[in-house]
Amino acid sequence: MAANLLDYDLEGLALFCERLGEKRFRAVQLFRWIHQKGASDFDAMTDLAKSLREKLKGCADVKSLSVVSQHMSTDGTIKWLFDVGAGDAVEAVFIPESDRGTLCISSQAGCAVGCRFCSTGHQGFSRNLTAGEIVSQLWFAEHFLRKHLGRDERIISNVVMMGMGEPLQNYAELVPSLRVMLDDHAYGLSRRRVTVSTSGMVPMIDRLGQDCPVALAVSLHAPNDALRESLVPLNKKHPIAQLMDACVRYLAVAPRDFVTFEYCMLDGVNDTPELALQLVELLRASGGGLSWCKVNLIPFNPFTASGLTRSSSARVEAFSDVLSRAGVVTTVRKTRGGDIAAACGQLAGDVKDRTGAVVRMHKRRGAAWPGRGLAAVTALVE
Ligand code: SAH
Ligand code: SF4
Repeated sequence: MAANLLDYDLEGLALFCERLGEKRFRAVQLFRWIHQKGASDFDAMTDLAKSLREKLKGCADVKSLSVVSQHMSTDGTIKWLFDVGAGDAVEAVFIPESDRGTLCISSQAGCAVGCRFCSTGHQGFSRNLTAGEIVSQLWFAEHFLRKHLGRDERIISNVVMMGMGEPLQNYAELVPSLRVMLDDHAYGLSRRRVTVSTSGMVPMIDRLGQDCPVALAVSLHAPNDALRESLVPLNKKHPIAQLMDACVRYLAVAPRDFVTFEYCMLDGVNDTPELALQLVELLRASGGGLSWCKVNLIPFNPFTASGLTRSSSARVEAFSDVLSRAGVVTTVRKTRGGDIAAACGQLAGDVKDRTGAVVRMHKRRGAAWPGRGLAAVTALVE
């Protein structure tokens, strides 16, 4: 089978070239053609020797994901649905702003964590994406946008791993894909502008700090274990105290001097001023002050199966005020792409739940399993 060159970071591509009997510097040329110029046809790579091009044609390709659909929001946000085979599809979202272009990328087809307020979680889990499939979302979006906008310079300046999936549960494929994003011979993104968002995979936060420290966002959503467990089941395995310790350890290597905490505002669930105060205390006690963190409040984007509703703007404001007055840097996330279901937590792609994650979610909540499709039932039987 042909090797997909989108799977390799520069080191991987250099090893691949060495195995073909080629010098390592050829890998840099090849890498630049692929990622900086968006080339997928070896014949177009004119400064590579003809013999190398022929060799590559025999054993490699540059295989991007194919696009199933594209939707553009009235606010300029673009959402792509990519086919990843076997009935699964994942989504990526481009969010243009005056001073930056952000791409939100998926790391898994579905997600096994099963957070109550997340539509990806409600779809269950099919599989990890490969590094090539993660990078492919950026490769496609960057070069599509350049062509579409008729521009030759970089369009995407920021990447957030906030699409479908828990990136730190797909660590082995995540790290090479981050390295491609950061590499000056590829996209050359600054570490501060690449963000990994996690629901709290504590051991992997430490590993990320050692292997590839990029900006870290942690989906907290609650200031105490009882409430957080009911929203983010992973909290049972990695409770808040351990999570906070890992975040503070991460600061020593982080490209920014803070960690961002995301907090999805759920009406009547986690949005009272008392909980805001608890959050202040938690952050203060964990970091020995408050300068080490930022809180990003995300108005909940509702979907029917969650049974949850969005906090009113007044409640979000009141919560935000408690934090700000106590000295916590707090922002409220603007909802973008809501009209095309591209906002946070609305990415659900199309996922065959192959692990019974959806069934477990319903069991946990003590609700009857409503039945969803053959794939989930099969997973349960297996
Ligand atoms: N799995 C990772 C990254 C993907 S989710 C994580 O959980 O951090 C990206 C962000 O969207 C997370 O902060 C998540 O909590 C938030 N989110 C999920 N569902 C949401 C919803 N329905 N409305 C608003 N934000 C949501
Ligand atoms: Fe998975 Fe993140 Fe959604 Fe939780 S919020 S189910 S971890 S994608």
